[in-house]
Amino acid sequence: MTSYAVVGGGMLGLTLALNLIEQGHDVEVLEAADRIGGLAAGWNIGDTTWDRFYHVTLESDNNTKAILDRLGIETVSAAAQTGVYARGQLFPITTNTDFLRLPILSLVDKFRFGLTILRGAYARDWKSFEQIPVEAWLTRWSGKRTFDRFWLPLLRSKLGDAYRDTSAAFIWATIQRLYAARSDQGNQERFGYIPGGYARVLEALSDYLADRGVVIRTGVRVESVGGMGMVDIKLGSGETRVYDRAVVTVAGPIASRLCVDLPDSEKQALAALPYLGVVCASVLLKRQLSPYYVTNLVDPAPFTGVIEMSNLVDPAELGGHRLVYLPKYVSPDDPLFDADDDAIRREFMDGLSAIHPLLSGEDVVAFQVARARYVMAIPTISYSERVPPFATSNPNLFLVNSAQIVNGTLNVNETVGLANRAAGHIT
Ligand SMILES: Cc1cc2nc3c(=O)[nH]c(=O)nc-3n(C[C@H](O)[C@H](O)[C@H](O)COP(=O)(O)OP(=O)(O)OC[C@H]3O[C@@H](n4cnc5c(N)ncnc54)[C@H](O)[C@@H]3O)c2cc1C
Repeated sequence: MTSYAVVGGGMLGLTLALNLIEQGHDVEVLEAADRIGGLAAGWNIGDTTWDRFYHVTLESDNNTKAILDRLGIETVSAAAQTGVYARGQLFPITTNTDFLRLPILSLVDKFRFGLTILRGAYARDWKSFEQIPVEAWLTRWSGKRTFDRFWLPLLRSKLGDAYRDTSAAFIWATIQRLYAARSDQGNQERFGYIPGGYARVLEALSDYLADRGVVIRTGVRVESVGGMGMVDIKLGSGETRVYDRAVVTVAGPIASRLCVDLPDSEKQALAALPYLGVVCASVLLKRQLSPYYVTNLVDPAPFTGVIEMSNLVDPAELGGHRLVYLPKYVSPDDPLFDADDDAIRREFMDGLSAIHPLLSGEDVVAFQVARARYVMAIPTISYSERVPPFATSNPNLFLVNSAQIVNGTLNVNETVGLANRAAGHIT
């Protein structure tokens, strides 16, 4: 029996562990945090437990569904309304009619915008999108005015200045996912959520894995993964453990630091992968802000968007309260990561009150900040040619992480699909 260490107990590491145990190996998952789940983990907010970062599923998320089916968990599907905040006002953009009424674009601009969405939705040649900067592609299809007025604020809010280096594959993948949310039901997006949040999935998955013999060790930070034959894993506690094989699922720059015995060229390639991080506030409120699940921000704001989760999730799941996420996507070295929660609270609540002037401090039940420096690798020009392979120069050490998702957005469905695919290459 071959022993495997899986470094990282996020959805990727856990799905890999499931594949490996079913192939008949010995598997240990080593997770630094005190609970599994990584970006999908839950936390306590107010009297309730919900995801630290907002999560929805789509009807077309077959990989996620396959895991949920095994665990006996069903999603709840709900129609989502969408809004946009521009020129100091909120407008609905849920339906095509709403969009046609939107005052910030002319009729011609809207027509070109519609064509842009259709081009993105029906194109299958994602590799050709990889060759063009996203700015050039959007300007070509939507026109300069719509780019400046509509797309640029959205790109900046989602990617910061990194939008300049991002290829059109990013917008292609985003349109594909949002179109999939819409296509089954026509004019309006539908999303699913998991009653109990992802914490429920993670608890059930942890039990399912343990029943099959996977050992999950939490609160165990891996300091280095060395050796050129069998793999020596040094832990934060000072202990060294030896495995036949290891699979590292953490982000490229972290993997570069951990895998000490790989040649410099391999470590540098991992370290050089450009990432985007996120600082995301969860705000538990006594009242609803708007009918929208997502409010896109065209006007400047201290965060990227307003995600009013309780417009999808039944407030009964949230102790009768309303849950709003305020994410800000930033580069991993952004000073916002070092700002304290109180400073972020002041800045974000001022920004939220500017959009919703009736909001008062008394409405706020809880405000918590989650931070993740490495969320997704930025799809730069010709990104698929720079994607790190699963194999490393140590035949017993493998790298599987979300930077290997090349023609999709970052989501659990892609993550689980990647783990299933990789499982065939790491044994
Ligand atoms: C703001 C936001 C919104 C999202 N929205 C959605 C959505 O709506 N729908 C959807 O499907 N997906 C969504 N996602 C994406 C989803 O969360 C990810 O696809 C998935 O959780 C990634 O899992 P992972 O295992 O690849 O990475 P991670 O979850 O990052 O797991 C990596 C793990 O490695 C651990 N680790 C790091 N260093 C070490 C070390 N030295 N030793 C041991 N362990 C270590 C970390 O603690 C972590 O648990 C969202 C993500 C974010 C951030």
